Amino acid sequence: MSCDHTTTLPTLPADPTDTCGDCVAEGNRHWVHLRRCLTCGHVACCDSSPRKHATAHHHATTHPVMQSHEPGESWRWCFIDERIV
Ligand SMILES: [Zn+2]
Ligand SMILES: [Zn+2]
Ligand SMILES: [Zn+2]
Repeated sequence: MSCDHTTTLPTLPADPTDTCGDCVAEGNRHWVHLRRCLTCGHVACCDSSPRKHATAHHHATTHPVMQSHEPGESWRWCFIDERIV
């Protein structure tokens, strides 16, 4: 079983964003880790965070892949195939 989503999407340029904009918009400053959408560059919080904005972004847009936005991490998670690459 292979995942085309993670291999066909480009590598995004570095982004200094270090907040979940969706959390900030809701007045919430508590998230655990950040993820970044490879389709549009949207930065959102992970499933360990109370609001799960990365998953919410996928459901709202169907963008398939979020990459870790933590320093030193570059793994990618595909929502469609539910796998880490
Ligand atoms: Zn995939
Ligand atoms: Zn969030
Ligand atoms: Zn997106």
